[in-house]
Amino acid sequence: MSLLLQKCASYTRARDARDAGLYPYFLNFDERDAGVARMAGREVVMCGSNDYLGLSTDPRVVTAAAEASARYGAGCTGSRFLNGNLDLHDRLERELADFFGKPAALVLTTGYQANLGAIAGLCGPGDLILIDKEAHASLIDAARLSRAKIQWFAHNDTADLAGKLRRTGHRGGVLVVVDGVYSMEGDLCPLPEIVDVCEEFGATLLVDDAHGAGVLDKGRGTCSHFGLTDEVPLITLTFSKAFGSIGGAVLGDEEVIDYLRHNARALMFSASASPANTAAALESLRILRDEPWRCTAVADNAAYMRRELTALGYRAGAGATPIVPVDTGDVLATLHAWNLLIEEGVYVNAVLPPAASPRLRTSYTAVQTQEHLDRAVAGFAAVRERVLGVSVAA
Ligand code: PMP
Repeated sequence: MSLLLQKCASYTRARDARDAGLYPYFLNFDERDAGVARMAGREVVMCGSNDYLGLSTDPRVVTAAAEASARYGAGCTGSRFLNGNLDLHDRLERELADFFGKPAALVLTTGYQANLGAIAGLCGPGDLILIDKEAHASLIDAARLSRAKIQWFAHNDTADLAGKLRRTGHRGGVLVVVDGVYSMEGDLCPLPEIVDVCEEFGATLLVDDAHGAGVLDKGRGTCSHFGLTDEVPLITLTFSKAFGSIGGAVLGDEEVIDYLRHNARALMFSASASPANTAAALESLRILRDEPWRCTAVADNAAYMRRELTALGYRAGAGATPIVPVDTGDVLATLHAWNLLIEEGVYVNAVLPPAASPRLRTSYTAVQTQEHLDRAVAGFAAVRERVLGVSVAA
């Protein structure tokens, strides 16, 4: 085997977990909705999806996707730049800008690409990117792709950010990059302080609001939650969570968005979001506007689970978002806990390094019923001794 490929043969981490019967990834669901899913014919309560508003299986969203496929085809077979642009993409941009309160929007094929497009489109060698240590992988990849100088600041630590900006002596452009809601811990960024620091040092701020958009402040997201939409020049979004589809967007001023339209390689050199996905996102946005109860329901469901899990003795993060992390100890303890919960019919996500420190990431939706939640609580109660016992021993 060539030198390059030798690492594949010696890579045993996944194989070891499979051999031990503990492998928690790439499982397939035979059926799913936002409340339950079926795996190999068995029903599990879904406490591990990002379908926060329950829209991915909403009949109106599914119908919009089917009708768009029938009208425009299954794919656009080209980038928006050349031959893959539909009236649907343009309409979605106008409606997103209007809903989120920014002058303009640019729709890309995924949220990952929205971050690549925005960051690598705007920054280059000679610029400096200051990025939160817990920022999403797509933001890190985007920063690296840009070839700008990268510096990390401690998670949510605005004093560290300010100190680094004060000491940098950097003369080029400076971009500060944060998540609105951190995807693994479910905590918010301290946006008012970050905005102040950026203003003090003349830095541009980008907030990735993948997990806040559609959820916080009647869906208007983290920046609106803090009343700071006008103060944040760049916001990125995904449609793969609250919007129940696939796609992403960058929001900002007209001239910035127009610049990205012609300079964001992740937009220009990749096929546009499919008609089905674009129409689904548009329909989700309409429903989000008309049915703000969904944002209240997802917050209530997550708060209920956070309370119940804490009462059972789990350390279940203190945030106020649909993401409720559960501390499980080390890698092996996390894999064991995940498997025990599956046996009890509860689906959660096993998070391991390098994504984050080991934990179970649980997340909730607006359409889970009390019965779904109580089944999940019963599952966590049934495995409590073994999970917390393993965790203490670890
Ligand atoms: N940003 C954050 C914070 C995310 O959690 C994700 C998805 N996990 C993305 C960006 C990428 O979004 P997408 O799935 O649309 O590529």
